[in-house]
Amino acid sequence: MIKAITGTKDILPNDINNWRRLENLIESRMKLYNYREIRTPVFEETSLFSRGIGETTDIVSKEMYTFTDRSGTSITLKPEMTASVVRAYLEHNLGKQYNFLKMYYISPMFRQERPQAGRLRQFHQFGAEAIGSNDPALDAEMIELSYSVLVNFGLKNLEIKINSLGTPESREIYKNELRSYLKSKFSDLSDDSKKRFNSNILRIFDSKDETDQIIMNQAPKILSYLDGQDLSHFEEVKKYLNLIGLNFSVDEKLVRGLDYYTNTTFEIISPKIGSQSALCGGGRYNLLIEQLGGKPTPATGFAAGMERILLACQNENCMDSSGQKIDVYIVRIDQDKESEVFKLASQLRNNGITTEHDYLSRSVKAQMREANRLNSNFVIMVGGNEFKHGNVVVKNMEDGTQVETKFSDINEIKRKLSK
Ligand code: AMP
Repeated sequence: MIKAITGTKDILPNDINNWRRLENLIESRMKLYNYREIRTPVFEETSLFSRGIGETTDIVSKEMYTFTDRSGTSITLKPEMTASVVRAYLEHNLGKQYNFLKMYYISPMFRQERPQAGRLRQFHQFGAEAIGSNDPALDAEMIELSYSVLVNFGLKNLEIKINSLGTPESREIYKNELRSYLKSKFSDLSDDSKKRFNSNILRIFDSKDETDQIIMNQAPKILSYLDGQDLSHFEEVKKYLNLIGLNFSVDEKLVRGLDYYTNTTFEIISPKIGSQSALCGGGRYNLLIEQLGGKPTPATGFAAGMERILLACQNENCMDSSGQKIDVYIVRIDQDKESEVFKLASQLRNNGITTEHDYLSRSVKAQMREANRLNSNFVIMVGGNEFKHGNVVVKNMEDGTQVETKFSDINEIKRKLSK
């Protein structure tokens, strides 16, 4: 039997309720903050990601689904969305139309990581990008917006961590300090961290190795190396978060994996879901647009993992477990009333009433059982003596009451269903 590829997951009809609840919430929150949806293709030219995300990142160096198509072009399934959004922004000259633009997305992403709970190879992210402003209020808004989705979904155990990575210039000075600090500890570092020492030294902060962590706890931290402008930007972000009463902690080890971040970075974690605890991450990326061929344009954004949000929700018992519900189940009393049932179902559905009927030639008893299983509010019985007089019986499944009504009068049937 053919099975789904490792690290991918089917979202089955029973799971959909909570996915839709999350998607609807995302849409309504994004509308409140005036973000407009953008959809981009699932695959892009590989160079977009290698240039946009950075060759030394884990994503580009070992996680991308890359293949050569029949015309010899190197294609990659998108591992994240920011590079694609910026590509679309530049390609369609959106900067000319709007000197400031807020966009959001909900989309599958693809990364060839080692699958485990909360880590998939095809997963879904929602996120937002605001392009054209360096206002620290916008960094705070990103944090508030992503947090608001999580909280309104029902999550309670959330921690907001923020940090600033400054500009590449101040970061370079800091990286040199870090390099000299780590040189004397080099032999104690894990193999992975040894590699990162040369390729992407800040990422050593993300190491899960215990010795690495002890070493990094004592390492010099970035905030002491930021210049005045970067520090005041960071202070402003904190001021705005305080202003709206959002609790956060400053975590100087929060460096994020991607090369394009400048200034603010943030993460929202759910301490209860194990090692893959980050639900959402983001920050400012003032250099990316230039890096992808545009003119220097400040921007900020975030991405949140939807499977992880659902996992956290499961752990916190905030999933909506109410099952399927329909308005009407039509029970066919006489086997030969197929056409009448079919027509009535069509009329009800066209009147906005969720309707189901039998397709398996089931007995009346079995049809009633099915109506119960589907949590139908009403049953309409077609057939028997009543039908000989042109009537159907409408049964209210909650209180058991029954009324007769004229089969040919859909408005009358509708009225009976609203009682
Ligand atoms: P990133 O784009 O790496 O900053 O990730 C943003 C968010 O996407 C993370 O906080 C996770 O919630 C989610 N995420 C990232 N990678 C995966 C994955 N392989 N499987 C499931 N969720 C993921």
